[in-house]
Amino acid sequence: MRQSNGHLSWAMLSAIVTRGAACTYCGCAEDLVTHHKIPRRYGGLDVLDNLEPVCRSCHPAVEQEAVERAKLVWERPEWPDRPRRPRQRPALRRPY
Ligand SMILES: [Zn+2]
Repeated sequence: MRQSNGHLSWAMLSAIVTRGAACTYCGCAEDLVTHHKIPRRYGGLDVLDNLEPVCRSCHPAVEQEAVERAKLVWERPEWPDRPRRPRQRPALRRPY
């Protein structure tokens, strides 16, 4: 199992995110999966800040939206609705 040092394991994170939770989008509490707000392939990390509970039926749409948003951020590193100190451009490789 891949596990970065200093971070909780994925199983642990998933349990924390989905336990007793409801889908962020439709509010149902069944069949929850752990969704990456910033997809992993766009540099999203396995950290609680980047995770939210989403049910299986919402997940495909939510995932698609997350990817679209990640692409925008990719092109414009300043996330528009998140005022934060400017960060260095993350060292990422384009997936294609
Ligand atoms: Zn849902």
